[in-house]
Order: sequence, then structure tokens, then C-alpha cells
Amino acid sequence: MKYIDYLIVGSGLFGSIFAHEATKRGKRCLVIDKRSHIGGNIYCENKDHINIHKYGAHIFHTNNQIVWNYINQFSKFNNFINTPIANYNGEIYNLPFNMNTFSKMWNISTPKEAFDIINKQRAIIKQPPRNLEEQAISLVGIDIYKKLIQGYTEKQWGRPCNQLPAFIIKRLPVRYTYNNNYFNAIYQGIPINGYNTIIENLLKNIEVKLNIDFNLCRDIYTNISKKIIYTGSIDSYFNYQLGTLDYRGLKFKTYKIEQENFQGVAVMNFTDKNTPYTRIIEHKHFEFGNQPITYITKEYPSDWKIGDEAYYPINDEKNQNLYKQYIHLAKSENNIIFGGRLGEYKYYDMDQVIQSALNLVDIELN
Ligand SMILES: Cc1cc2nc3c(=O)[nH]c(=O)nc-3n(C[C@H](O)[C@H](O)[C@H](O)COP(=O)(O)OP(=O)(O)OC[C@H]3O[C@@H](n4cnc5c(N)ncnc54)[C@H](O)[C@@H]3O)c2cc1C
Repeated sequence: MKYIDYLIVGSGLFGSIFAHEATKRGKRCLVIDKRSHIGGNIYCENKDHINIHKYGAHIFHTNNQIVWNYINQFSKFNNFINTPIANYNGEIYNLPFNMNTFSKMWNISTPKEAFDIINKQRAIIKQPPRNLEEQAISLVGIDIYKKLIQGYTEKQWGRPCNQLPAFIIKRLPVRYTYNNNYFNAIYQGIPINGYNTIIENLLKNIEVKLNIDFNLCRDIYTNISKKIIYTGSIDSYFNYQLGTLDYRGLKFKTYKIEQENFQGVAVMNFTDKNTPYTRIIEHKHFEFGNQPITYITKEYPSDWKIGDEAYYPINDEKNQNLYKQYIHLAKSENNIIFGGRLGEYKYYDMDQVIQSALNLVDIELN
């Protein structure tokens, strides 16, 4: 008997918003997740009253008024602004590239001085950029490339920049103002009491089953559900029958440190080649914590294989073509909708996932 209107596979933002809106409209929903907790990648683990962003630093930012109003129903946000720091062999620079960065790098003070230096350095690339290295130099010049881009990017992708395609860096924002606000969005912040509050409020009074991988017991659930919203990866649903979509992986190592303040900022990027991790996150700074201890997480980019958490989709031509083939295959399936970051194979930020879920609500439920 199909007594569930919507089976929602995945309790991340996408699945939880859909479940919430469908339930509000009188539909019977069941949410399952293969992880042992709700929330997908925005889940936080609370230790010693500090919310630890278990799947990487998450900073909410948007210019979308509808999304901002929507998400504020489930939590208010603090006034955290992301002002990350780059650490190049112990030399400290502000990000994104702005007058503070240029002043430190070249001991200058005016936008004109910075502009002239960057322009002169960019000019060494005469031909259309053939790889990421040439692309980056043609955008910001050699000094910024060498100290702030090269090492970080090579660690992130596991390959030398001159062997990476130019399209990875389409543009590199350069600001000729003293402005360290990374996202510069109209709305920015961290949910007061952490991200879990949002998901808990979205899923209030909705049945959720954890530690269940849909693909290992799909018959049980398809037999009871009229329709499925699938927020896992689309190729996993089809048992990788056309091939595997590629991702870049990440490994996290978290440490408790008996010190009040470890690095003075929430996000520090390590831009040299020798430091094996790309970033250290000091979680308490997202919420202006004043606990006597602190938690930090080192992020190590890694190769990805089936079974690992899929973090960054690699939206190159090969993978986009494969994704299109899966979409084609999906059209032959009845009663299933793919959504979210994995289901749509897009590097969506949280605000984009929220908008995408609300779009589906409009199409499916209104
Ligand atoms: C390292 C990192 C940092 C990020 N930082 C930011 C940031 O600063 N700001 C920002 O706006 N966005 C950020 N994002 C993006 C943000 O995480 C996503 O936009 C959002 O979490 C996606 O929600 P989702 O519901 O689509 O997917 P997910 O959160 O991935 O949820 C999918 C859920 O489906 C479950 N699932 C998958 N397959 C199955 C299955 N077969 N059976 C059962 N359950 C299954 C998974 O366990 C998971 O819980 C970041 C992402 C990453 C990876």
C-alpha cells in the first residue's frame, strides 16, 4: 500500500525544505538518510558548547530577499562576516584580494599604485591563457599568483596549475578598496544556536529514519511511496550504470586545544605548497565564543572514490555530458525527482539550494 505521499531521500537543506512544505500542505512525508544525523553537510556537532561544522565551514550569505526571509522563519542569524586570512609561510594577508592585501605585499597605500603593479605583471601573458597558471597571472599578476593562488590551488586539485584547465578560474575578484568582507552579500551570518536548529525546525513533526541507505533497500521504500524526492547523487541512484560522476573529496582532522584563541579568525587559508592542509577553521569565532578552550579543524583536499562523501562536483565537459545522460535516463523513471547539490550535480551554495527547493515546491505542490 502506497501510504506515503513523498519519500524524501536525504535530510539536508533541500530534502528538509521540501518535506516541511509538503507536510504543511497536508502530504504525508517520510525522510530517510544514510547518515546517523539530520542536516546533510550543514550538520554541526556541539562539543564544549562550540558548534563544530563537521563537513566544512558553512557561512550563510545571500542577496536573495525571498530566501533570506524564508530561512529566517527557522532561525535568526548573528552578524558574522567572513574575513578570511591567507597564511603564506607565516606571512599574513587579507582576503579577498583588496587594498589591505596589496599594501602588505608591496608596501604601497593607494589604489593607483596597486593597479599599476597588477597591470604591469598581468602583461607578461601575451597569448590567450592555455592553463590555470596563465589564466591566474593574466588576471592578478605574478606576485599574487605565486603567494596566494598557486600552492592553495595545487593542493586543492592535486595537480600543478600549469596542468589544470584555465576555466577553473573564470574571474578573480580584485578590489581596489580596503574591504575584507569576502562575500559582500546583503545578508550574511551564522544561525544563532547553529545550523542544526534550522533543520530541527524544518523537520518538526515529520517522521525521519536515520542510518538507511535508500539504494540498499529501495524496494521496501518504493513499495510504500507514491513519489520520491532523491537528494543523493544521481549516478548512485542508477548504480553508476553509465559511469561515475567525479568529485573532489575532503578529509577533516579536528583537534581540541587548551587555549582560548588559536588563530584569531574563523577561516585561515594556507597558501604555500608545503603545508599539507588548505585551511584551518576555528569554529568558535563563527559565534564569537569566549570559552576557555577551542576546537580547530584542518582541511585536506583528497581524491574521491565511490563510498567517500562527495564534496565538490567537477563540472567539466566530460562530467557535464555524463550528467546529461543521467538526466535523460531519469526521464524514463516514473515518480522520482532529483534535487539538491548531489541530485543536480551543481556546486550550490545554501541559498541556491533553498531557492531550488522552493522552486520545486512551486511546481510540485502549488
Ligand atoms: C566543504 C563545503 C563547504 C561549504 N561551504 C558553504 C558556505 O560557506 N556557504 C554556503 O552557502 N554553502 C556552502 N556549502 C554548500 C552547502 O553545503 C550546500 O549548498 C547544502 O548543504 C546542500 O544541501 P543538500 O540538501 O542539497 O545536500 P546535502 O547536504 O549533501 O544532503 C544530502 C543528504 O542526502 C543523504 N543521502 C545521499 N544519498 C543517500 C542515500 N542513498 N540514502 C539515504 N540518504 C542519502 C546524505 O547523507 C545527506 O544527508 C559548502 C559545501 C561544502 C562541501
